[in-house]
Amino acid sequence: MPSAVIAIDLAAIRANWRALDALSGPGTETAAVVKADAYGCGAAEVGPALAAEGVRSFFVAHLAEGTALRIAVGPDPAIYVLNGFSAGEEGAFGAADLRPVLSAPEQVAAAAPHGLRAAIQFDTGMNRLGLEAGEIAPAREALGTTEVTLVMSHLHSSDVPGDVSPEAQRRTFEEMRAAFPGIPASLAATGGVLLGDAFHFDLARPGVGLFGGLPFAEARPVVSLHAPILQVREVAPGEAVGYGATWRAERPSRIATIPVGYADGLIRAAGNRGTAFLDGQPLPFAGRVSMDLTTLDVTDCPAAVPGAMVELLGPNQTVDQLAEAAGTIGYEILTSLGHRYARTHTG
Ligand SMILES: *Cc1c(COP(=O)(O)O)cnc(C)c1O
Repeated sequence: MPSAVIAIDLAAIRANWRALDALSGPGTETAAVVKADAYGCGAAEVGPALAAEGVRSFFVAHLAEGTALRIAVGPDPAIYVLNGFSAGEEGAFGAADLRPVLSAPEQVAAAAPHGLRAAIQFDTGMNRLGLEAGEIAPAREALGTTEVTLVMSHLHSSDVPGDVSPEAQRRTFEEMRAAFPGIPASLAATGGVLLGDAFHFDLARPGVGLFGGLPFAEARPVVSLHAPILQVREVAPGEAVGYGATWRAERPSRIATIPVGYADGLIRAAGNRGTAFLDGQPLPFAGRVSMDLTTLDVTDCPAAVPGAMVELLGPNQTVDQLAEAAGTIGYEILTSLGHRYARTHTG
């Protein structure tokens, strides 16, 4: 059975990094966030491509992601692990030269004896991870042999136009970082890069914009996804399609079945709402998305025959447009793309 094909454009990722880097001044280093297997695009390929483009610092979420990325990018780039440090992990951090992002007093204490380089994260209003104002001075005293190479925080609404909270968080961050004079500081993810100079500090940490997602509207698209039509069937008026019989033919219809379902990251909520494309012509999803299959109404598309490749992501549909149909965000589409595709990297 032919399989769906996902193509990842490494040249576009590199171009997106250059474009984001160009938005900040020469005093700001632009890092790359490649957690969750580089937002589903493959950290083993994306990491080296970005290192070759000039990226000197990477961020991942998990220790295991950091260990794998170190092998992919070699010894030179800094690799920060956002989810922090627990006692017993010092061997793994040390062996791969990874830097934990310490976000709680317990993490600072656990890392103190091990002579690691590390970032310190402050909470400036998101209440997810990070030291509170009152915890900063004690943490500084408790660093032990840890060398702090970065202080950072994270904006919760940088992609909300006109929102005042980024500026409030920025001011809080300025106050908090004063406890670590001379240490490079980082506040901006993709959204923060777009907010302008005041948010750039010494290091920017874009993720989703590298991979073609909003809020970086000027991004070059990175991921394309095409699936072959397995079958086309004639459906008479009144007949139903798919689980729960949620779609019914109102006229003599043709239904095409493609081998992509929610197990492949085609979010189930896109059932009856999503669209595929063939030669630019929209093919509405007919019925629910199943685990391995999706059905399309191809009544008005004579080119839809078995073996024809339909587009789910590509020139006609961005990750954010598909996300919209599924009631989610581009981030979730990207990171949901499964591993059953034939995956190629170009560029
Ligand atoms: C995921 C993440 C980023 C990257 O965010 P994007 O919105 O994808 O650019 C940066 N910093 C932290 C702490 C993150 O968790």
